[in-house]
Amino acid sequence: MLDCLSLYRRHVKDLKRVGSGPEHVGKCPFPACMKKFGRKFYVNEETGQYDCKRCDASGNTITFARYFNEDPGLYCDQLPIPTKIDLEKVEQYHKNLIARPELWRKPWKHHILELLQVGWDDLRQSLVFPIHNFSGQIINLIHHKTFQNKGARCTLYPAHILKDYDPTYIVICEGLVDCISLLSIDIQVVTATAGALSIPADISVLRRFNRIYVCFDVEEAGEAGCDRWINRLLSEMER
Ligand SMILES: [Zn+2]
Repeated sequence: MLDCLSLYRRHVKDLKRVGSGPEHVGKCPFPACMKKFGRKFYVNEETGQYDCKRCDASGNTITFARYFNEDPGLYCDQLPIPTKIDLEKVEQYHKNLIARPELWRKPWKHHILELLQVGWDDLRQSLVFPIHNFSGQIINLIHHKTFQNKGARCTLYPAHILKDYDPTYIVICEGLVDCISLLSIDIQVVTATAGALSIPADISVLRRFNRIYVCFDVEEAGEAGCDRWINRLLSEMER
């Protein structure tokens, strides 16, 4: 296992030890601070935890690695084990949603909801999005705006149908709900499963598209996410 400082050093500018203890301080790499402000970002090399005294960003080696699309497993040997997906529940959620069109968002179409097995959880009153891998297995279950399975990685959505898209173009959009809406009006679209600022570690499947459009919300997170995607796509295409 690599030491957590090697991870932090790659993203935190001017990271220096404070005195002789485990604390280090550097310039915060998160969007609210963007390395512009003084050294307010603290990292504890023993616990792996960080917090920024200016923008209140805080977390641990796992959340930090995920945010920067790195593999947390390299820096932390106590990754939470993904909970097993209960496929019967997925099916039940899906039946709930299909039976209640009043819960569908505006342009959503039946055949798209079938394809993606989108569901509704009555107990938590939330949409449920099964996340498939490229071969169609469900690897994660996201409850809209509530929670997802612990240990799940950021992936492309909907991964299992990307191979059916024609290579002329693809649109990258912000979030699962928008993704389903755009698919419902016949637009070839993809998103990342962990929010506007997330990009999966492996996006090599996008290389086969002739044109890639990045279409995000016009607000702070959307604009930051858009910039990140464009930079990442440019470096992916240079490979
Ligand atoms: Zn900060």
